[in-house]
Amino acid sequence: MNREYLNRRHFLSLCLAGGAMLLPPLLRGDDDNNGDGSNVNFALAQTGITNRKVVVVGGGMAGATVAKYLRLWGGSGLEVTLVEKDPAYVSNIMSNLVLSGGRTLSSLNYSHASLTSKYGVQVRNGTVVAIDAQARTLTLADGTSLPYDRLVLAPGIRFDDAYGLTQADYESAFPHAWHAGPQTQTLRDQITAMQSGDTFVMTIPAKPYRCPPGPYERACLVADYLKTSGKSGCKVVVLDENPAIQAEPHNFNLAFTQTHAGIIDYRPGVSGIKVDKTTRAVSFTQGGAQQALTAKVINVIPPQRAGTVVDLAGANNSGGGRWAGVDVLSYASTAVPNIHIIGDASATTQPKAGHVANQEAKVCADAIVRAFLGQQPDPAPVTNSACYSPITNSTASWLTVVYQYDGNSKTMVPSGAGVVEAASISSKNFSQMNTWFNTLMADSFA
Ligand SMILES: Cc1cc2nc3c(=O)[nH]c(=O)nc-3n(C[C@H](O)[C@H](O)[C@H](O)COP(=O)(O)OP(=O)(O)OC[C@H]3O[C@@H](n4cnc5c(N)ncnc54)[C@H](O)[C@@H]3O)c2cc1C
Repeated sequence: MNREYLNRRHFLSLCLAGGAMLLPPLLRGDDDNNGDGSNVNFALAQTGITNRKVVVVGGGMAGATVAKYLRLWGGSGLEVTLVEKDPAYVSNIMSNLVLSGGRTLSSLNYSHASLTSKYGVQVRNGTVVAIDAQARTLTLADGTSLPYDRLVLAPGIRFDDAYGLTQADYESAFPHAWHAGPQTQTLRDQITAMQSGDTFVMTIPAKPYRCPPGPYERACLVADYLKTSGKSGCKVVVLDENPAIQAEPHNFNLAFTQTHAGIIDYRPGVSGIKVDKTTRAVSFTQGGAQQALTAKVINVIPPQRAGTVVDLAGANNSGGGRWAGVDVLSYASTAVPNIHIIGDASATTQPKAGHVANQEAKVCADAIVRAFLGQQPDPAPVTNSACYSPITNSTASWLTVVYQYDGNSKTMVPSGAGVVEAASISSKNFSQMNTWFNTLMADSFA
């Protein structure tokens, strides 16, 4: 094992031990080009890997991170192409603050330019329409064919037509805003148009869904906006298909019953949700009783499944075909060779969260680099998740958990204290949240 590889291993253990960290100074660039024809502003490692190609599909939290770290750790002989359908990434994380006026949507835009300028990742703007796992090629909508030695799929999620609503409804009058972008602005506009006495109804699908604390956070921020903007008598009704609050139960319970008492009406264990688009009535069953209410704003968060490229690859072999089964030592597909799936699209015991996507990307990058060097994956990976949840436009809660590989179950299991949540909701947490967010996004995109 050469010296550069040892350095990379040491760096991996630093990153995994500390979660999302800024690059340490030794990898911060000077202005030298490393001579491999790419515009890299520091010398990439010479790892012994030559002429290997990895294609990454999806430039979100997982895809951007794996592309960057494959180049950092794989070095100049590992060519990385990132295919992303959108010109820039809009962060879901913090997007609930757009609804409460605490942030602008444009503040959540992240470019992929640094991946090219700093690390030499080739970024292709396009949509994948076919994958040939036998020939190890994929095809873009414009007909371009890209060969790969390894393919990493990081497409995030797509949404079911559900509760009487279709994709066209989500794009127009009934935005879920669970993938940040134009729908986030539409929902913000609907909320600001609410008048005193109006009702906002949101629904939460049965787990697993993207960002376990996210819906409860959204309820709090919408309530905070309605309260602070002087709209009296408004209600935020939360219809949860789960039997109880799915994350930070202590602090969200406090937020619902104290901070936002009288505004948030939380109803767990709901089933049979149906939206009447014309009358704006939402019907549902709770505790065996059929109920209905009408609402000014209806924010359905639909059931989710892996992005379509996972289906194209034939890797949707978990959760009744919703998710991609993976070996969490490498995130290799359990269905298709030479394909890895990371982020929300994969089926693991870790939450579908941006911080976790960043961590999975690093474990996956390490495993691919090792494979190209003829080595086995790290047998004992460690990942962590930290998640801050704004409760108002100036206070927040948080949770954190460290996962370790369990050889018996072959899954990632919470270590030590398990999931730890903040002792209280505070403005200090809100300030630390911004540091956490900026650090995580820099580690993924900069
Ligand atoms: C409101 C909200 C708040 C959240 N808050 C937090 C939080 O506080 N902390 C946290 O850790 N997580 C949070 N999350 C969850 C987090 O955003 C996701 O877990 C994370 O984005 C998953 O990363 P990903 O890379 O799997 O998917 P994404 O980040 O969604 O990226 C997928 C990318 O793939 C691209 N793509 C898809 N299909 C194709 C294709 N065929 N061809 C090319 N490109 C394609 C998409 O355009 C997208 O850019 C939140 C989510 C929401 C909705």
